[in-house]
Amino acid sequence: MTMSASAARPDAAELELDELETYLAAIGVPKFHARQIFQWIYRRGETGFEAMTDLSRELRTLLARDLAIGTPALARRERSEDGTTKFLLQLADGSFIESVFIPDTPSQTFCISTQVGCAMHCAFCLTGKMGIVRNLTAGEIAGQVRVLTRELDMHGQRFNIVLMGMGEPLHNYDATMKALRILGDEHGLAVAPRRITLSTVGVLPALERLATEPFMPNLAISLHSTTEDQRDRLVPINRKYGLKELLDACRRFPLKRRERITFEYVLLKDVNDSPDDARRLVKLLHGIKGKVNLLPLNEAAGIPFERPSNERVNRFAQILAERGVTVSVRRSRGRDIRAACGQLITESTRQRTPGRQLATMME
Ligand code: SAH
Repeated sequence: MTMSASAARPDAAELELDELETYLAAIGVPKFHARQIFQWIYRRGETGFEAMTDLSRELRTLLARDLAIGTPALARRERSEDGTTKFLLQLADGSFIESVFIPDTPSQTFCISTQVGCAMHCAFCLTGKMGIVRNLTAGEIAGQVRVLTRELDMHGQRFNIVLMGMGEPLHNYDATMKALRILGDEHGLAVAPRRITLSTVGVLPALERLATEPFMPNLAISLHSTTEDQRDRLVPINRKYGLKELLDACRRFPLKRRERITFEYVLLKDVNDSPDDARRLVKLLHGIKGKVNLLPLNEAAGIPFERPSNERVNRFAQILAERGVTVSVRRSRGRDIRAACGQLITESTRQRTPGRQLATMME
């Protein structure tokens, strides 16, 4: 959309409010205009300065000349039978990412990406097969929320945000946290931190840093395994930051009175879904304020695992529940359009045409 033009100019979408104020002050513009601009961009979904009618015409012309408002371009939109909608977005450098709208859970949820691809290579995740192409910028992360709000006509409505799209948020720490501050700003979308969930495989140094953040989202940990050996294989970063250290960090993680850490556990048939696994999980979580979210595998070509039967899933859940662990089973949304967990994949197709790219997505 603003592709080549935006590359040369500073980009307002990459700035927090105070940075925009500083920028304006530096070019001799009163800084209170920054709040107005923020409202237009985040509350009204404007992607150009021309429409910002409470700014003088002169100022609008000046800003339009000197500043971009980089906005991911909508390349494709696919709606699942269950209402889940997947958005393929194209970024200024031509790369593609996916964001997903999941309605009525009972809240409205935006699932957004933090990287193009992912470096974590979890054995059951399709995004991991892509490898890492690059980090998203703060503006690109927050921009997904701007585009979805606009496309779904949801200005002024409440929604949750889960950082569960493509990428590992704690592997792109600074941009992710900056995006959250932008999304949380009271003059913009004002998304409360308790409406945001950051999901991570547990990049420990970054997790320790997260523990000190003033703007603190809910935490979800992709655990998936109850032994070091098995987790080494399923979630390779475990070889560097092991299960035990991860759970110790969770024990230390600051939680307010009613908050709990969510532990995500993907169920793989005959791999980690036995009653013994369930009992080990209960033991591991002892003393942690947590709850478990079971994710029966979303199968895909190229993923060498199977989804357990519903009986098996229920049995696993029952063992946790009987021992006092709060447990939920994630109902898979949008599987028919490959929008479910671990199914987001785009190619790094700078050399390929968008047509080819879209064909790939449709397969
Ligand atoms: N990198 C972060 C954010 C991705 S969240 C993380 O791993 O937490 C996506 C969630 O879906 C993670 O818990 C991930 O492990 C899970 N997931 C990945 N592939 C899946 C699949 N094929 N079926 C079900 N869940 C999957």
